[in-house]
Amino acid sequence: MANPTDKAILFDASKCTGCRACQVACKNWNQRTYTRTDNNGTYENPLELTSQCWMRILFNEPEKRPATDDELYWYFTKYQCMHCTDATCVKVCPSGATQKYKVSDGDSEAWLVKTDPKKCIGCNYCVATCPFQACRYDAAEKGIFRCIMCFDRITNEPDAFPTPEQAGLDMKNQPDPYPTRNRPACVQTCTTGALDFGTREEMLAKAEDRADYLKQNGSKNAQVYGLDQVGGLHYIYVLEDEPDKYGLPAKPTVPAGVHVWETLVKPGAPWGGLALVGLVAAAGAGYVINKRNEGMERKVQGGGD
Ligand code: SF4
Ligand code: SF4
Ligand code: SF4
Repeated sequence: MANPTDKAILFDASKCTGCRACQVACKNWNQRTYTRTDNNGTYENPLELTSQCWMRILFNEPEKRPATDDELYWYFTKYQCMHCTDATCVKVCPSGATQKYKVSDGDSEAWLVKTDPKKCIGCNYCVATCPFQACRYDAAEKGIFRCIMCFDRITNEPDAFPTPEQAGLDMKNQPDPYPTRNRPACVQTCTTGALDFGTREEMLAKAEDRADYLKQNGSKNAQVYGLDQVGGLHYIYVLEDEPDKYGLPAKPTVPAGVHVWETLVKPGAPWGGLALVGLVAAAGAGYVINKRNEGMERKVQGGGD
């Protein structure tokens, strides 16, 4: 299970207005470029995660609108890598490129899933087996991309923040120019309070309180999501209804073959005599998996990125 002092992000769907400022902030901070898309009659944009778009806001339109005076109604969801405790992508990676990295700010820790492009062999096993379909391979950049929980921000990595001298500022007697530097870009940008960041324990407590409040105020199905899915997610959600209404799998499943692969085939596995078979399989399967994953998540083309 996840460590209570791990860092986590809280998304409160009941406070989200779908403005997508978080999506833009993610792109901006992580220096991702735009890609051309077409309007397909939805506000979602783009319609699936890409190597250039690591998170996006889903506009889930309910078949039956809850009792409300609003003409329009959506269940908004912030969708990205969930930084699973039992991360499938880490389990299946045959080259050790995708790993969990421990970062610490002194009081608490975060275990972030990241891929080292230098080690990635492009087999796409992580892409094929991720229970949230949340990582993407980029052939041009030769690497796997996903939300990295802004590790450079939350650890105050010096390169991420220019010194006052570099920024040409006279900082004598001035307040810290980056007072919220240790918050992820998406969290920092949200103006409605739908996003929060802290230890997983704190985020879960806040989520439970909010879900209780929503239950007492008309949302009888209000609930917390992320507590124990895939060993516990490092994104915690407050939902006003069942997860499937938000495009979230109630019980995200890890393909059965992952356990066989991890135990018998993966190089370095306990029964690693089959390691060579594993490498050949990894390389050979890449093309097939790439084809399978074309158009995963939401298959419709459209929107504008
Ligand atoms: S959501 Fe997918 S890519 Fe992210 S940690 Fe979990 S298995 Fe890996
Ligand atoms: S934590 Fe950082 S990388 Fe992840 S979605 Fe937010 S802005 Fe993007
Ligand atoms: S910035 Fe906040 S309100 Fe806007 S879409 Fe993101 S989570 Fe929702």
